[in-house]
Amino acid sequence: RAPLKVATWLSGTGIVVGLAILVFGVNTVIASRSDTWRRAEQATTNLALALEQDITHSLSNFNLALIAAQDAFRLPGASVLSPSLRQAVVFSRATAQADFGSMFMLDRDGRVTLDSNSTVPMGLDVSDRDYFTVQRDNNYTGLYISRPFHSRVGEGEPSIALSRRMQTADGEFDGIVGGVVRLSFFKHLFEKLDLGPHGSVKIMRTDGAVISRFPPGNVAIDAEMPGSLVLKASAFAPSGQFLAPPTSDRQERLVSYRVIEGLPLILNVALATEDIFSGWWYQAIMIGVLIITLCTANILLSLLFRHEMKLRLRAEALLTDSADKLAVLALTDGLTQIGNRRAFDAELGKVWRAAIRAEQPVALLMIDADHFKTYNDTQGHQAGDEVLSHIAACIKQRLRRPTDFAARYGGEEFVALLPNTEAEGALEIAETIRTTIARAQIAHPASPHACVTVSVGVAIALPQHGQSEALLIQDADAALYRAKQTGRNRIDFQKAPFALNQSRPFDIDQGAWLGPLIEGDAAPNAVRPPQIGER
Ligand code: GH3
Ligand code: MG
Ligand code: MG
Repeated sequence: RAPLKVATWLSGTGIVVGLAILVFGVNTVIASRSDTWRRAEQATTNLALALEQDITHSLSNFNLALIAAQDAFRLPGASVLSPSLRQAVVFSRATAQADFGSMFMLDRDGRVTLDSNSTVPMGLDVSDRDYFTVQRDNNYTGLYISRPFHSRVGEGEPSIALSRRMQTADGEFDGIVGGVVRLSFFKHLFEKLDLGPHGSVKIMRTDGAVISRFPPGNVAIDAEMPGSLVLKASAFAPSGQFLAPPTSDRQERLVSYRVIEGLPLILNVALATEDIFSGWWYQAIMIGVLIITLCTANILLSLLFRHEMKLRLRAEALLTDSADKLAVLALTDGLTQIGNRRAFDAELGKVWRAAIRAEQPVALLMIDADHFKTYNDTQGHQAGDEVLSHIAACIKQRLRRPTDFAARYGGEEFVALLPNTEAEGALEIAETIRTTIARAQIAHPASPHACVTVSVGVAIALPQHGQSEALLIQDADAALYRAKQTGRNRIDFQKAPFALNQSRPFDIDQGAWLGPLIEGDAAPNAVRPPQIGER
């Protein structure tokens, strides 16, 4: 069943295409996920780097201003200047950056001796602050960045202080020079960033003291985070990236950190995985729904197509089957199971036209049961039917060529059509049919022959263009009539006068074509038509 195979192939292809779309879709979504992650990694790294540069730049400038103040303070004539002039000289390089507070000098006891903005009361004691004690107790002369504290002057703003140690020529501690950086400096830097709903940025000292974070949360100023993952990671590499497991807010985060170059500060930027993938999820769900819908529809349609095709083919086969059966029924005689009158008419037309084209003879045998009315009357109609079936079987049995054709012409009359058969052969077959039926010795007491017999009229024609096959039937009928007239249970022959071919004269008595087709050919053996009772 080729169409079903095609349907199976088509629906199979449909399913494969559907699955291919599915694989492609899944692949696209996975690729887009890793792409999203890679971009988040780049974004956090770049942010951390940019922030580091910003902070380094500002704090280094502040450090340079402190160094300049330190140097100016040590200038030989500085001590003799008036306080206001000395202030102007010492802090000449103090920056005017918005979030940077005043610069100041402390003596060796931690009391304010000089202040760049004149906002700090002279003599204020800050000897307890770490930016003072660390410098006093250590010989380290670099920059110190303090823990966050609330300022003791002004509005008590949260700040850090940067300090540098001053010492005498022989290395003894001689106070500090320091400067205040308000934590709003970091806040203003951080709040401009878009880190998503759960992102954060934080700056802490390398000892774990948090200086500033955004969003601030409810962590107190000067909080310690000694167990921080960033702190642990920075011990191995000055910059890096890692995935921090969920904390109290159940957010897993991608963290990029950097130890700020030259300063004891660590900066980190964190993006929540949830925020990173929020856009991707939307895309993935849209693509997923679309592809699953497409695939399901495709696969269902493919299966449906095959199913419909199957039903249709089955229905077609049933139809063809019954149509074939009907066609056979329409051409078969119900009683005798040989061709009926309609089948004969069609076959005769076909054979006739073929014979005209091929210039071949056609023979027709018209076979009629003798005294059949009386048989019916004496033996019953049922027995008559059986005899008719028997006669039909005998006729069929005696036809030898596949092209020979038998049919019931009507009532107790049968025909046998023998294409491409010369008179000799036609007569021989007619005689065989007659003798077969007679030898069956089916009792027919009312007949002069005492058994069932048939009479056969034989006609032959070599049809020409324009001639009708009705003439052949007329001839066979006429021959049959003569057989009946001359005593029944015999065959008679009617040459077709219209088919007489002048170049091949037909000998009625001999029952054969006479003479060569082409002059010089040997004449075919002429055969005398068989006489009744001879065989
Ligand atoms: P003849 O020898 O001259 O042919 O005489 P006949 O009786 O055979 O011819 P006639 O035409 O007078 O009668 C034909 C009979 O065949 C009439 C009918 O009873 C019988 N017959 C025709 N068709 C059937 C049939 O289908 N079944 C049966 N049992 N008899 C049929
Ligand atoms: Mg009859
Ligand atoms: Mg009859």
